[in-house]
Amino acid sequence: MKRFFLLLSVGALLAGCSAKASGSASDSEAVGTVAPRVAFSADSAYSYIERQLAFGPRVPNTEGHRAASAWLASELRRHGAEVELQEATLKAFDGTQLQAVNIIGRYNPQATDRLLLLAHWDTRPWADEDPDPAKRKEPVPGANDGASGVGVLLEIARLLQTNQPDRGIDILLVDAEDYGAHDDDDSWALGTRYYADNLTDANRPTEAVLLDMVGGHGAAFCREYFSQRYAPSLLDRVWVSAARAGFSERFPDKLGGAINDDHVPLIQAGIPAIDIIEYNPASGTGFNPTWHTTADDLSGIDRETLRAVGQTLTDFIFPPESE
Ligand SMILES: [Zn+2]
Repeated sequence: MKRFFLLLSVGALLAGCSAKASGSASDSEAVGTVAPRVAFSADSAYSYIERQLAFGPRVPNTEGHRAASAWLASELRRHGAEVELQEATLKAFDGTQLQAVNIIGRYNPQATDRLLLLAHWDTRPWADEDPDPAKRKEPVPGANDGASGVGVLLEIARLLQTNQPDRGIDILLVDAEDYGAHDDDDSWALGTRYYADNLTDANRPTEAVLLDMVGGHGAAFCREYFSQRYAPSLLDRVWVSAARAGFSERFPDKLGGAINDDHVPLIQAGIPAIDIIEYNPASGTGFNPTWHTTADDLSGIDRETLRAVGQTLTDFIFPPESE
């Protein structure tokens, strides 16, 4: 989803949160950055986004959704994860029974200190923000809203196969995030609510990083409000990783909006969780202009944005040697 609870109250703080124009000199050329220990491939992440879009919209209870879930699970297995499929029937705001599946890939499963990385893999059934009213009942292609975060996490899974992390890493590709109603805050993030409700002491992560809409052209990622309020030290550590990797312009030290997203049920379950999500003050919604429109397709995906987010997260997992 992503609706701002507190837009008016934080609006004054948001003014500075914007990236430089896409296509300018690469962020990584900034002076004083540290060479990565493990290199993230934006081309690989992009190809994982392409593959997801080839299934068509990933709307629960559709054939494209079923086929995509099988492929996502097989990719995590192929990259050496211990995979759990968490299947559930979840009731949507309109009464629809959603056949949902959270796909969990675990690395270093014996470790008790576990970092959870998550992104939603379902796509919204209705492009209700499309500028053309005739298209608002069509499904969203979900290149940025869904596939971008999953693409980054699949590339990180590929890296985890050959690089052993110090901590346990859980990759959660979560379902049924985007089937919500704008007048019902609890109708979003149904898959993460189910995941949080079914945690045990044995599989409970220490902290969590959510990726959502991390592929937009020239995107900037501000400090999302709930992340700042409930997980400030985790947010600081990720922002330090971004700066060290040369991406401080993509991760400005500015407060963003308050977003109802998959991190909220985790915070409610007592897990420090942050949301890395584009904030775009130039658009009317605060999101990328393609958000919940039929234009959310591959043309809106920027490899440099994927690289900024993916390398930041990779450095967070595998800190460079000089640290
Ligand atoms: Zn969405």
